[in-house]
Amino acid sequence: MDPVLQQLLDAEHQKQVSTINLIASENFATETTLRPLSSCLSNKYAEGEPGDRCYPGVEIIDKIELLAMQRLKQLYNLSDEWIINVQPLSGAPANLELLTALFPLQSKVMMLTHDHGGHMSHGDAGSLISKLFKVSQYYLGSNALLDYEHIKQRLSEEKPDVLIAGFSCYPRDIDYKTLKQLCTEANCHFHVDMAHIAGLVAAKLMSSPFIYADSVTTTTHKTLRGPRGGVIFSKTKCHSGVFPGVQAGPHMATVASVAQAAFEAQQDSFKSYCAKTIQFSKLSGEWFVKNGFNVQTGGTDSHMILVETVIGAEELLGAEGIYVNGVHMVNGKHGVRMGWACMASFGVGEAEVMLVCEAVKRVLNGERGQEIQKIVQEVTKKFKY
Ligand SMILES: *Cc1c(COP(=O)(O)O)cnc(C)c1O
Repeated sequence: MDPVLQQLLDAEHQKQVSTINLIASENFATETTLRPLSSCLSNKYAEGEPGDRCYPGVEIIDKIELLAMQRLKQLYNLSDEWIINVQPLSGAPANLELLTALFPLQSKVMMLTHDHGGHMSHGDAGSLISKLFKVSQYYLGSNALLDYEHIKQRLSEEKPDVLIAGFSCYPRDIDYKTLKQLCTEANCHFHVDMAHIAGLVAAKLMSSPFIYADSVTTTTHKTLRGPRGGVIFSKTKCHSGVFPGVQAGPHMATVASVAQAAFEAQQDSFKSYCAKTIQFSKLSGEWFVKNGFNVQTGGTDSHMILVETVIGAEELLGAEGIYVNGVHMVNGKHGVRMGWACMASFGVGEAEVMLVCEAVKRVLNGERGQEIQKIVQEVTKKFKY
């Protein structure tokens, strides 16, 4: 092993277990989920699909890909009408691949505006989707919640071909039934990108989009706690958008790791990690409200909370080894997004969550250095990873 690289890997590991990660899009995959990523599967080319590949010698590879699809189907209780594609390299390409497979160029896409929590890969300015399709936006209400009357209005104004729900920065559950009704009335495809909440949906702690959506995409590395990857679920076959549309050879080591993650997500230990994640999230939301902070929507149903702060709060916290993302609040102010999946994966308890909230508040009040570091150490020494 290159000693320089080995040192960097060791340093990154040490950093991950000695700092506090509240980045809502991150998680810590289990050792068993990480294992296939460094396996011999990385050596294989397997362009195509199980049973229809461009390369020979893929009998076992086919079984692995079919297993990943089967495990996901079990995980989300899917009927046979759902076609699963586990090859997307990540969440953003999965969206591009789905849309380009199902809709002609210049079709109309409607997304939640990025500033209100929609994801860039839904067609924000600069994304390839924004160049290939005609993208319009809908907005959250002034209470920072989805406003279904407004969405109805926007659908009738813009007449999109596809409405995208599922967000990066929205702490509340989504009324998929109502959105599907609105899409049906507007003769519009209903797509849900459940990237952030895929684990919580699997654990049945948030609503499942599968009952109402026409298609679903996800990442596999956020609350689902798998490898970095993406999945498309669709009732219409869209493999051509993946290959040859955007990708060539699938990353089979990742596909195997997705199979393992979907297997683990069916165990009781996964459900209790998800329950703990939401419990920590709710607890922290209540704590910040009680301590006088503006918490968007007043709380959460998910793994994340959004808290109004001064501009630059994420740099102040990052300097102390507490990692959060900066976000736009719907009231136009600056805020931070705090997610609790990593803390739950590390096996800590409510006491540690309270310590972290206290540390965040003290940093935002201008404290630095030793006293904060004491809290960070007290929390991180409880980490099991
Ligand atoms: C994170 C995220 C993505 C992008 O996933 P990548 O794996 O980073 O490409 C797409 N959609 C939503 C809603 C996300 O939160």
